[in-house]
Amino acid sequence: MEKAIQMVDLKSQYQRLKPEIDEAIQEVLDSGVFIKGTHVSAFENELSDFIGGSYVVSCANGTDALQIAMMALDLKPSDEVILPAFTYAATAEVIALLGLIPVLVDVYEDTFNLNVSLVENAITSKTKAIVPVHLFGQCVDIEPLLKLANKHNLFVIEDTAQAIGSYYTFADGSRKMAGTIGNIGTTSFFPSKNLGCFGDGGALFTNDSELAEKIRMIANHGQKVQYKHDIIGLNSRLDALQAAILRVKLKHLKSFEHSRIKVADYYDSNLAKHPNLLIPKRSEFSSHVFHQYTLKLKNGNRDALRNHLKSEGIPSMVYYPLPIHFQNAFKNICRIGSDLTVSEKLCGEVISIPIHTEMDEVQIDFIIEAILNY
Ligand SMILES: *Cc1c(COP(=O)(O)O)cnc(C)c1O
Repeated sequence: MEKAIQMVDLKSQYQRLKPEIDEAIQEVLDSGVFIKGTHVSAFENELSDFIGGSYVVSCANGTDALQIAMMALDLKPSDEVILPAFTYAATAEVIALLGLIPVLVDVYEDTFNLNVSLVENAITSKTKAIVPVHLFGQCVDIEPLLKLANKHNLFVIEDTAQAIGSYYTFADGSRKMAGTIGNIGTTSFFPSKNLGCFGDGGALFTNDSELAEKIRMIANHGQKVQYKHDIIGLNSRLDALQAAILRVKLKHLKSFEHSRIKVADYYDSNLAKHPNLLIPKRSEFSSHVFHQYTLKLKNGNRDALRNHLKSEGIPSMVYYPLPIHFQNAFKNICRIGSDLTVSEKLCGEVISIPIHTEMDEVQIDFIIEAILNY
């Protein structure tokens, strides 16, 4: 193997894009403008074009984006927010941080995404919002969720940290990008995300101009005019350096997506025959941008499989080892909104294997061989 296999290979990706990225960084250094400035606003406009025209407000990271969304929608302590039990902790964390009650609902066993049919039963008079998390790169079945939200007067905040660029197809055949469908969409530019910067970064999407204005104020100390603070906000801004890097990477995002899908297709066609491994299901209503390629091991010893791969130099990860209600931080404060046995079971079965933009066929074949030989 020429290069060590990694879950994501950011170093090789940088080497490939180095001339463009170095030029962008140098330009920021020469400009002396490090907070806000033209790169940040240009990036917001370019990302807005990419996602289909929604307003884009950048911020410091994807966790802040979720927090800002809930603040902008005026969610108040003891309001309930529904989210999947099988997700990254950040989603539950900001809910708890704002004094809101996380209400956990189970996910589908095959797509890992929120089981929309269980949501209505979890709604009470205190429920104010639903946070569908578009996990691993494909969309939650959001059309029925929107109907439910309309019926019960709830906000929908889409956590799009793992699914930027993924399309949802509505029953009438129209398509919209993840994050642009609910009241607010949030995303993360953490380095390993599909659109990653060289540090922390995040953004919010909305189609409502007033809400966009409010989000922009909250992300910048609650001020619209400098030193006039009208609401309580945060210091949550995207750096000019990160914006300049993201402008370069955004131009490549479609090709990044194609590289990931190619790897996933290749994995699918070779691993589908494994007797104990289930390949990830692709939803009929969503495209998949494969932030993660996540297999399920049935009736097997996952640690043994991971150790076998490790001994061959192949990393793997477990996203996620615990559902939210088993985490110490959340077990006493969340409300159980449905039976959660699928989430609990998945935590014992899932294994994510390397998928990124810099994989070559030699590496992919080697990984497939190692898995099939196990
Ligand atoms: C990465 C991630 C976040 C948090 O993003 P940060 O930029 O790391 O704060 C939130 N939700 C999900 C689903 C994520 O994958």
